[in-house]
Amino acid sequence: MNNTKMIDRSGCPICKSSAFSKKFADENVHLDQLDRFAFASRKIPEYMHWQLWECQQCDLIYADPIPDRTTLVHEYEQADFSSSVQAKLASDTYASFLPSIQSLLPDLHGALDIGTGDGIFLEHLIRLGFDQIEGIEPSLAPIQAAKPEIQPLIRHGIFEKGAFSENQFSLVTCFQTIEHVDDPLGMCQEAYRILKSGGAIFLIGHNRRSLSARVLGKRSPIFDLEHLQLFSKQSISQLLIKSGFQVGWVKPIWNSYPVTYWIQLFPLPRWIKSKLMRIIGFFGGNRLILPLPAGNIAVVGYKK
Ligand SMILES: [Zn+2]
Repeated sequence: MNNTKMIDRSGCPICKSSAFSKKFADENVHLDQLDRFAFASRKIPEYMHWQLWECQQCDLIYADPIPDRTTLVHEYEQADFSSSVQAKLASDTYASFLPSIQSLLPDLHGALDIGTGDGIFLEHLIRLGFDQIEGIEPSLAPIQAAKPEIQPLIRHGIFEKGAFSENQFSLVTCFQTIEHVDDPLGMCQEAYRILKSGGAIFLIGHNRRSLSARVLGKRSPIFDLEHLQLFSKQSISQLLIKSGFQVGWVKPIWNSYPVTYWIQLFPLPRWIKSKLMRIIGFFGGNRLILPLPAGNIAVVGYKK
């Protein structure tokens, strides 16, 4: 990340104005302290973030300036893939919402998972009867870790305008990715274009208004240089409405992860975490799965 080029966003990425924005936090990035996991998912947090603003009209926290797209694409392409166990657990949680969503879809032909990682969620889509399934993922490591039967369904790259056809999909999913993209509104507008009428977008992201975020404040792991915006129920709904969607529902979700992973997320010094994780790992903490309200929200929007 040593030749990071920063660009101005000129305001809130939802309402495209800075009229309602107040400075939220100064930038605290030390590029020399970052490792190759900095842009990986489910990593040990570094507690670094860009200069942050809060749009009081949209209830969004956003970074401005941000690294330019070339830098982001390069960082994600090279990022390491840290854990497929956690990816599996997360994807089971997200898939538990699918039966109620899919009952309202026009059909089960065409599903796209944006930021699909090792494509583990695509397995759920197959199991539930979807066909013409695709995943798109910018990082090479998770694609290489994908199961041989899933790998051909994953396209390497970022979700860009024109990459898919109009009315191609009945369902577009995007988990823990919406805070990473440089243009979340553009992403959702493009999702709207490629969805059939009655098709759904299903997003999961961090909730800046969650209990854990409020208790931990700026020590919350959601403040991270990978996150270019942080949503709440209000701002994630606003994002979908501005993109043309009708919001079906928005609600907080509980995540199930091994105890050792929860410790990774907790704001403790690194050496204490490593010790704790070794001790708990020794007593089988890797196998002990604990559901907690980790501060995520899920939202579903339908194309009219
Ligand atoms: Zn705004």
